[in-house]
Order: sequence, then C-alpha cells, then structure tokens
Amino acid sequence: MLTPAAASPTAHPNLQQSLQGAVERCAAAGLRMSHQRRLVLELLWKEREHLSARDIFEKINAQEKRSIGQASVYQNLETLQKFGIIECLERSGGRLYSYRTDAHSHLICSATGRIQDLDVQLPDGLLVEIEARTGYRITSFTMQLVGEPLQDLSKPANP
Ligand SMILES: [Zn+2]
Repeated sequence: MLTPAAASPTAHPNLQQSLQGAVERCAAAGLRMSHQRRLVLELLWKEREHLSARDIFEKINAQEKRSIGQASVYQNLETLQKFGIIECLERSGGRLYSYRTDAHSHLICSATGRIQDLDVQLPDGLLVEIEARTGYRITSFTMQLVGEPLQDLSKPANP
C-alpha cells in the first residue's frame, strides 16, 4: 500500500535558509570560513536573488573598500555549490547562484528573465496520486513556471 509522504516537500526549516545555518554547514563540511567566503555568503543572503558570478563579483566590490579578486569569488561559488551550501541554476546564459538549497519552485519573468523563488503547495492527494501512478515515493519536487507581468513594469504599481 502506498502511504502519503510524511514530510511536506515544501517544508523549509529556518536553519536551512538562515545565513548562520549556511556558516554551520560550511563548518560541518570542513570548509574554512575565509573573509571572501563570508562576503559571498552574506551577499547571497542579503540579495535573495539568482545572480551570475559576475553580478556577485561586482556587487561585492561595489560594497567593499578593499577589492576582491574575480577568481576568488568564482572559486568560492564553485566550492559552495559543490558542497550544497548554495543553489546553482544552469541557464542558457550561464550559471546563476542563490541562497536557498531546500526544494523550491521558480517563477521566471518572460519579459526580464528574472527568477523568483516560490513555495508551491500542491493540492492534498496529488502526490499520493502521482506515487500510485508511477510507483515512486515522491521525496521532493520543483516547478518551473514562466509568466508575463500583468502590469507594465516600467510604470509604478497601483497608480
Ligand atoms: Zn531558487
């Protein structure tokens, strides 16, 4: 008999999403918390966007008096995503990095390409139905939705 998944795939414990949680997961993985690595993590948790390595490099250098090498930023992003500390999306234009690593969905703006995180709750019974149909216990899911803005983005909302 198939049983419904006990844990909701959309559940995201706060620690998983907190900067402190990321620092702790680095320590658990044996990753040294260098100044540069901390700056990369702090920027991702502050921005909460999906950014290219170049965006991240430029934003860090715009806020820091002391400049940080591009190679250092790129290497830190690679290491952090390899250890599952940060999210990495493969897009046609290159990789994008973000702060969340729990299962979540994305809404992509067809006008700007901006990617927004979404927590989607599926109707009760849908996962059970999918499990019954496929013979798999569903442990996580992500949806990729594409949408066009209902309002002209160049005009202020609610005039
Ligand atoms: Zn995301």
